[in-house]
Amino acid sequence: MEKSEIKEYPVCPVCGSEEALIATLANEEVSKGINTNVVPHNLHTWPFMMRNQNYPLMIGSRAPGGNIIIDVCKGCGIIRAVRVEVGEAIALDKTPKIG
Ligand SMILES: [Zn+2]
Repeated sequence: MEKSEIKEYPVCPVCGSEEALIATLANEEVSKGINTNVVPHNLHTWPFMMRNQNYPLMIGSRAPGGNIIIDVCKGCGIIRAVRVEVGEAIALDKTPKIG
């Protein structure tokens, strides 16, 4: 992504907790010596691309897009965004591998 904008949301807007469930578990596993690259660090990464759904997707086309990274709040249990990455997404001929 070019010209990317990243926003972090470290605090739960509902309960004020700064702990996210999957991130906490991942840190515990990494502290045991497990390779940080093989442990998921969030519940899910949601890729998105802002495009006109009325037209077929052209390979190589560009549009605003990015990822929304979500996790579960350890304080109250809601699923919330912990990080939002916005930039210019490029349509590929295959789904990019994430994680
Ligand atoms: Zn919470």
